Amino acid sequence: MDAHAEIARTIDNYRDKVVALSHEIHEHPELKFEEHFASDLLSKAATELGLEVERKVGGLKTAFRAEFGGKGPTVAILAEYDALPNGHSCGHNLIAGAALSAVAGLKSITNLPGRIVFLGTPAEEGGGGKIILIESGALRGVDAAMMAHPTDAEFCTMPALATQHLKLTFHGHGAHAALAPWDGSSALAAVIQTFQSVDAMRLHLRDGSRIHGIITDGGQAVNIIPEHAECLFLARAKTSKYAREIGARVIRCAEAAAMATGTRVEHEVEGAYKNLINNISMAHRYAAHSESLGTISREAPENTPTGSTDMGDVSHMIPSIHPSFAISKRGEGNCHEDAFVAHADSKRGYDAMIRVAKAMAMTAYDLLAEPALMASAKKEFEARKES
Ligand SMILES: [Zn+2]
Repeated sequence: MDAHAEIARTIDNYRDKVVALSHEIHEHPELKFEEHFASDLLSKAATELGLEVERKVGGLKTAFRAEFGGKGPTVAILAEYDALPNGHSCGHNLIAGAALSAVAGLKSITNLPGRIVFLGTPAEEGGGGKIILIESGALRGVDAAMMAHPTDAEFCTMPALATQHLKLTFHGHGAHAALAPWDGSSALAAVIQTFQSVDAMRLHLRDGSRIHGIITDGGQAVNIIPEHAECLFLARAKTSKYAREIGARVIRCAEAAAMATGTRVEHEVEGAYKNLINNISMAHRYAAHSESLGTISREAPENTPTGSTDMGDVSHMIPSIHPSFAISKRGEGNCHEDAFVAHADSKRGYDAMIRVAKAMAMTAYDLLAEPALMASAKKEFEARKES
């Protein structure tokens, strides 16, 4: 039996186990950095596959890493498993299941012509777990990386945006709002002016950019001039450089608002993700396997609506892919919507998870077995590297 057929057969045999596991993770949603249930379950399953699992990688309580195989290049398969406050509305339980299945398929190959790293990456939703893992050396010596994410569309690439995550804190002066408002300066007024200036700036941003914010502190009592107020902004753009530029402009809006309102502002960059550089050599091989399994997976067209991911940072380090797989139809709910929670625990979702696991495992195998494919992925990576 050839390796691809063996991978597919193993993943099919493993289906019931991984669907049950993915369902359990779905039933126990855990927020960033607190994914104890999921990381325990995945580590246990990996151990049962015969892997030696290292826990608490990079100082992260819920990260794990396992490595196996023979001599040759190394490919990492990444799992995410964190949820959002409304549950598994980003379907990371399926990402975890797809990664584990792919690893099971590759583990079944005797004399694997290279190595596989199975990396459990916490806190994709705003915590940047992969960035911490990169810094800790968890991907050192790895030649290429992959994971797959559920959405409402099937694409072998995902043009995820770079981000700047900003926290703006305004300090004003509290005063009785009726008795002596002239003695106060409103931190809330500064927040509102910041939002208005940011809105005025939107027209002047390059296509594909996004800025969105929320007010996390709007004052202390209705009859006191707000002494402090706080808001969060996420600036996104096609490149990290431009996301930083937009972030700097948001800060200038805040400084102008502070000056106009007689308040003071402090800013903090709470995090930043890089844009995703999709390795086309790898993506096309993944698409070919997806097609052989009955599903067309094209490159995402320019300006496809997208979010951001810390896989972007991985893609700036080594050749990477992050295909998206459809578990809902357009208009039936997409990532982060309440409706997507049910899609992440549906037969359609689990069928897609199994198919994607096979396509990823076959692609990973090819990268190990075909030096020309790995060389082409690396050559492309070098040519497209961003500063
Ligand atoms: Zn997600």
